[in-house]
Amino acid sequence: MKKLTILGSTGSIGVSTLEVVTAQPDLFRVVALTAGNNLELFKKQIETHKPELVSVLSEKNARELKRLLSGKKPEILHGVEGMIAAATATDTTMVVAAIVGAAGLVPTAAAVMAGKDVALANKETLVTAGHLIMDMVRERGVKLYPVDSEHCAVFQSMVGHRDQDISRIILTASGGPFLNWSRERLACAIVTDALNHPNWSMGRKITVDSATMMNKGLEVIEARWLFDIPVERIAVNIHPQSIIHSMVEYVDGSVIAQLGVPDMKGPIAYALTFPARVPSGVKPLDLTTLAGLTFFNPDTERFPALKLAYRAVQDGESMPAVMNAANEVAVEAFLGGRIGFMAIAEAIERVMDLHVPHGLHSIEEVLEADRWGRRKAREIIGVEA
Ligand code: NAD
Ligand code: MG
Repeated sequence: MKKLTILGSTGSIGVSTLEVVTAQPDLFRVVALTAGNNLELFKKQIETHKPELVSVLSEKNARELKRLLSGKKPEILHGVEGMIAAATATDTTMVVAAIVGAAGLVPTAAAVMAGKDVALANKETLVTAGHLIMDMVRERGVKLYPVDSEHCAVFQSMVGHRDQDISRIILTASGGPFLNWSRERLACAIVTDALNHPNWSMGRKITVDSATMMNKGLEVIEARWLFDIPVERIAVNIHPQSIIHSMVEYVDGSVIAQLGVPDMKGPIAYALTFPARVPSGVKPLDLTTLAGLTFFNPDTERFPALKLAYRAVQDGESMPAVMNAANEVAVEAFLGGRIGFMAIAEAIERVMDLHVPHGLHSIEEVLEADRWGRRKAREIIGVEA
């Protein structure tokens, strides 16, 4: 039986993870859960899954949660310490990292340091601190399973193969809601347009990232660290149907792909049960019902964020962490109606132009680079912290 901590259980990935857990009660027990501000949903999850320990964003939330819960209550913690306690709980054997943004870094790193296997949805952890995390994973001998659907597909396409035989990773991208929009039209795109993703239902931040294609950029960086492959050998293909979740090309010309109906329960279940496969609740794929599968190259003129991400890895060191921080601030400003859609990538680029990359030797130094990126982005956009 796997004993789980789910960091960010009230989010899109967290909820899907609990669906997978509920469908396989003999395989999983929930030890700890964390959430931000959605206390109503969190209360229901706690009552259903009966964790020993829970944590919320603030002390105020912790008091409120205590009031909401009746009967036998779990230990209720809050803040970064609470997330770390959940990530390192003694009984936990696997941590599902499903917090959004750089806020997921510290608890995910704590889980690895404590020797817990990790099912990683929080791609920002690897974007900001990939080299440190991968070193820790090796040192501690823990397993890191990708939950991101593309990386799960790549992982599945690599099982049984030798690393030295890989020639390229090809990440697929749906292209998001603005696939066929002109630059002029994109400049006027509003929040509801950006949140209207054609294939996936996800949290707001990643949905906007999908619209700018920064999500694919973050995924290129994530793949670079997960699979230890230079970004020059990571390609992106637009594939609007989101049926092929990604591919690996081998030196003999063979391409291995993983296909399925787009539903995160598939990659979540695989990460939780590898190498076993269990019914995940994903509908079977019937290729005969599809009108066709198409592929083409991304347009980095209309979606400059993808180019910025490649540049960030090439610049290296602190640049990806700074880019990620600027992106989080810019996406927040866009969601708050403060800046236009095209201004997201413009703000990120300006922050990157101001940054002189430097080595990052600890998680604390990554957090410092993250704070620098946020500060500069706020100055450029003209918003308060
Ligand atoms: P979401 O916004 O739906 O949920 C985020 C969760 O994190 C919530 O439980 C929220 O309460 C918590 N949270 C947010 N900020 C926090 C903070 N500062 N401190 C503590 N907790 C905080 O996000 P999501 O769509 O589930 O995405 C989660 C992660 O998974 C992201 O890194 C995303 O890129 C990645 N991911 C998501 C999907 C998807 O389908 N949603 C697919 C692939 C990867
Ligand atoms: Mg993805």
